[in-house]
Amino acid sequence: MKIAIYPGSFDPITKGHLNIIERAASIFDRLIVCVMVNAEKQPMFSRAERENMIRRVTSHLQNVEVDASDELLAEYARRKGGCVIVKGLRAVSDFEHEFQMALINRNINPQLDTMFLTAEHDYMYLSSSVVRELGTYPVSLDPYVPAEIIDEVTARIHSVHERRIQDGKQH
Ligand code: ADP
Repeated sequence: MKIAIYPGSFDPITKGHLNIIERAASIFDRLIVCVMVNAEKQPMFSRAERENMIRRVTSHLQNVEVDASDELLAEYARRKGGCVIVKGLRAVSDFEHEFQMALINRNINPQLDTMFLTAEHDYMYLSSSVVRELGTYPVSLDPYVPAEIIDEVTARIHSVHERRIQDGKQH
C-alpha cells in the first residue's frame, strides 16, 4: 500500500490545498493530511480547529485521513509508513525552500521521496495568509475557502481583526 503524507500549516485550509489533496488522493492508496504544529508560530486556528476543518472538507474522500504532529516530518513519515511527501508548488519562489526541505528529509529518511504537484492555475496566488488578510475586508471568501468552513473562517478573521484594532487603540 502506497501511503503519502501532505504536511502543512493549513491555517486555514484553502481551495488550493483541497485541490492538491484531491489530486494526491487519486494517485496514492492512502493520503494523510498532517497539520504540522510549530511551537514558535502563533496560528489563527488551533490545532484541533484546523484538523476539524480539514476533516469536514475532505469527508467525500474515502482514502484521506487527517492528523496533526509536532514531530520532525521525516520521522513522522517513517512512523506512519509513508513513502512520499506531497507538496504543492505555486511559483518558483516556493521551489528553493521546498527543494532544500526535500533533500534534508531524504537525508534523514532515505526511503522518503518528495513529490511536487503544480498548483492549479486558479489557485497559483492563493495562500492561507492571503485568506487571513482578505478576510479582514468585506469581500466574499467563496473563491478561496471551501464552502463548508467559510462562515467559521470569516467569523474568526473578523473577531481577531476587531481585537487587534481594540488593542491598537489601547496602546
Ligand atoms: P500556506 O500557508 O502558504 O498556504 P501551508 O504550509 O499551509 O502554506 O501549505 C502546505 C502545502 O500546500 C505546501 O506544500 C504549499 O506549497 C501547498 N500549497 C499552499 N497553497 C497552495 C495552492 N494554492 N496551490 C497549491 N499548493 C498550495
